[in-house]
Amino acid sequence: MIKFLPLGGAGEIGANCFYINLEGCGIILDCGMHPQKTGVNALPDFNLIENLPVDYVLISHAHQDHLSALPFLVQKFPYIKIISTPQTRALAELTLHNSISILKEQVNENDGLKIYSHEEIDLLIQSIDYRAYEEKFYLRGYHHREEDVSEVTFHDAGHIIGSASILIKKNGIKIFYTGDINLQDQMILKRALLPAGKVDALILETTYGSTDSNFIPGWKDEAMNFAQHANKILSGGGSILIPVFSLGKMQEILAAIWKLMETGTLSKTDIYTGGIASKISRVYDYNRYVINQIDPEIELKSIVQKDLYGVENPDDFFKHPCIALAPSGMMIKNTASYLLARRWIKQNKSAIFTVGFMEESTPGYLIANSKKGDKINFGGDGEEVKCTIKQFRFPSHSKREDLLEIVKRLKPEKVILVHGDADAIDWIGAEILKFYRGIKLYAAEKGKEIQL
Ligand SMILES: [Zn+2]
Repeated sequence: MIKFLPLGGAGEIGANCFYINLEGCGIILDCGMHPQKTGVNALPDFNLIENLPVDYVLISHAHQDHLSALPFLVQKFPYIKIISTPQTRALAELTLHNSISILKEQVNENDGLKIYSHEEIDLLIQSIDYRAYEEKFYLRGYHHREEDVSEVTFHDAGHIIGSASILIKKNGIKIFYTGDINLQDQMILKRALLPAGKVDALILETTYGSTDSNFIPGWKDEAMNFAQHANKILSGGGSILIPVFSLGKMQEILAAIWKLMETGTLSKTDIYTGGIASKISRVYDYNRYVINQIDPEIELKSIVQKDLYGVENPDDFFKHPCIALAPSGMMIKNTASYLLARRWIKQNKSAIFTVGFMEESTPGYLIANSKKGDKINFGGDGEEVKCTIKQFRFPSHSKREDLLEIVKRLKPEKVILVHGDADAIDWIGAEILKFYRGIKLYAAEKGKEIQL
């Protein structure tokens, strides 16, 4: 019997973590932390698997909401075996070390969390076994018979570098977990490669399920649109702030800006980046001939960039026109993009351009949905937005028609919807039921077991 049990990431984009019991072999898919919560509330609920077999954890990609709770899982189950792609392993080393200082600021002793040390992370990283895309590998539970194994392959998910969808085969049953998946080309990465043939159960992300795809153009068209608006601001003497995730969106947007400047579509100007994003760019550069890159000649290191964190007086950003790429992507409170935006909104000539998905509860959503002249509560009381605000969409997740395309191509008998808000799950669920009547559909709920 195969059982599926969500420990987090069900009905929300949060601490993604799903447990599968494959006839006695316990496999965990992803182990993320909720980006907007702190302490134990940010973690998946590991108590749900206290008395169940726990043998492996497979990590789909290195974003915080899929990876960052891993050290806490290892504290609880020290014998667990971790497997990811080599790129995810390299990124995990950067991001997990980086998150120690952030956790120390956020967490106090009453939160019940034991913050891990840099030595623990070194040990954890060394213990990660890594597998390339399309390479078959085999998992065997501790209590299993010799012949009783599962076959697993990672498939390129086209979301960020090293991102994988995961196919598990066991006794003729195929389970496919999309992770975060993108069926369109970005600027650096090519689209996802789905496995051939049908699967029995599909665990499907639904991030853009409630977003009308008319608002999600292709990267190339949106880049032209971006250049047009950016030129206006820059030629008027203004500077542009772009909130981005350090992992993925920053590298893709930097490559897009560089290409636009090289072709003369966008005026050449100073570009500010920095911090962990620059270290992550090195991982993109090292792997550019290994991964599915559209143009392997793009080397991020060779794009001239100024250090975002080396600017002593923030007023300097407004002395000459510039473009600043700052984390976090959703402008979470007290991050660089949030603090800079507090200054940017006071600047008449300048602009904030948003480029990705914003969750409704985040400061980024508030900014993206306001306009010049509005009064908003953004760290103060009813401040007037003086700068221009413009929303762009450079998606790294599949638009909703593409999510349905995955269902069409993989012909599953069962679909479990994860990683989306209630509206997203409703829309995708209704469409699946309309077009694929035989499919058994489930919306994942934390702690609620589903038999596959
Ligand atoms: Zn992701």
